[in-house]
Amino acid sequence: MVSLGMPHRPIVLLGDPLLRELSRPVSSAAEAEPVFTDLRDTLHEFRRGHGFGRGISAVQIAVPVRLIYIEFEGRAYKLRNPVYEYLSGDTFELWDDCFSFPGLLVRVRRSVQVRVRYEGDDGEVLTLEADGALSELLQHEMDHLDGILAVDRALSRDAFCVRGEWERRYRL
Ligand SMILES: [Zn+2]
Repeated sequence: MVSLGMPHRPIVLLGDPLLRELSRPVSSAAEAEPVFTDLRDTLHEFRRGHGFGRGISAVQIAVPVRLIYIEFEGRAYKLRNPVYEYLSGDTFELWDDCFSFPGLLVRVRRSVQVRVRYEGDDGEVLTLEADGALSELLQHEMDHLDGILAVDRALSRDAFCVRGEWERRYRL
């Protein structure tokens, strides 16, 4: 695959059926690398424009493959073909948001701890164990690979809040 080195790409938005696709595995790190570069650049551009954003899945830039890019607490994670090894039975609730519907927050429940196995740059098998904020972020991005969105996990009909209202009510 040849990369043209585009600085960033448009985000696929809620309503586009592409977000519902089952993303396909990526066979090599070489194939993944240009997509990771675009994911990183797109995440940075989104954060400049919206003031939030820590993770993105390839389908959100219209490339339905199993790649996730995350920046969390100063570290970057490039996950190729991630699969769950463990999801805790302990759960917590949070207001979730998404690049694909940046104006909407959704109350969801996620596992407190999670462990994910994925392929690294040299084809090695790596694991990432996370809890709390990184755990829920991983679960959000893993869902994208299977066409699942936070709106599907809304806890009730009161589990939706537009961003301005959410900031007034919950961000004190
Ligand atoms: Zn999302």
